[in-house]
Amino acid sequence: MDYLKLFRVEPGSSVRLNKIDPDFKDKHEDKESAELEIVKQNQKIHDLQYLMYAENRRSLLICLQAMDAAGKDGTINHVFAAMNAQGARVRSFKTPSHEEAAHDFLWRIHNATPAKGEVVIFNRSHYEDVLVVRVHKLVPKEVWSERYDLINDFERNLVENGTHILKFFLHISLDEQLRRFKQRLDDPARHWKITDADYTERRLWPEYQNAYEDALEKTSTKHAPWFVIPANRKWFRNLAVSRIVTGTLESLDMKFPEPVVNIDEIRRQYHAAEEAAAASAP
Ligand code: ATP
Ligand code: MG
Repeated sequence: MDYLKLFRVEPGSSVRLNKIDPDFKDKHEDKESAELEIVKQNQKIHDLQYLMYAENRRSLLICLQAMDAAGKDGTINHVFAAMNAQGARVRSFKTPSHEEAAHDFLWRIHNATPAKGEVVIFNRSHYEDVLVVRVHKLVPKEVWSERYDLINDFERNLVENGTHILKFFLHISLDEQLRRFKQRLDDPARHWKITDADYTERRLWPEYQNAYEDALEKTSTKHAPWFVIPANRKWFRNLAVSRIVTGTLESLDMKFPEPVVNIDEIRRQYHAAEEAAAASAP
């Protein structure tokens, strides 16, 4: 199945998150049976990211958005583990600092976008400014409602400058979120991950789902599509994201750059001489 098609939010279509099954796992029985494909996808990500870095012409921006405990960190861990840290970065967006809040909402975002040859993963993104900001009424409706168009224009500018954009919403159920909170409470190594805000935000689940549906509908474009990833199963979430990343990178038809030197000449003139010298050394 082509996950690029299956999970993509078609531009202009309406999104009902409660109609999308967060437990979906395609033909796979369990993690073990999907393992081979997961390993294969990671190898592909590794090779393609290397090629993107070498080519140094285009870039990839991956935006991750989700409710708390839906697996942003785990996804980053998985996708990033396959990459060479040279040429790949993660950037997290928290509550804006004083300086950030004194600028327009895209200021801090633009500064973090990938340079040519780079892959950047956003852990939360400019979409917070139409999600948490909307749900908590941090700015008036007249302000946040204008932001969808601003975001689309901003992303088009990036795309026209050679950045490819993939946006993932990790879709979990309300029950699954509670299970994961419980695991955090039960595991001392995860205590640092849980706060009271997680529980207070959870009560706003319907408001968040509405805000997400609007964002997905208004900002899934041909140039910067959204994907809704069934994320109750961590291994399936990782597999789905990896497949979409590799499928996209493959479609770019990237090439290693032509060597800037004459390889045959270097081989003849320098390498052969060095080998001869090494062979005759005492
Ligand atoms: P985890 O899922 O592991 O808890 P996190 O991404 O939630 O990680 P936190 O430090 O818990 O990280 O929370 C960051 C907070 O910053 C989130 O509640 C998010 O909504 C908030 N935030 C991000 N961007 C903005 C913004 N533009 N305006 C207001 N709040 C924002
Ligand atoms: Mg949090």
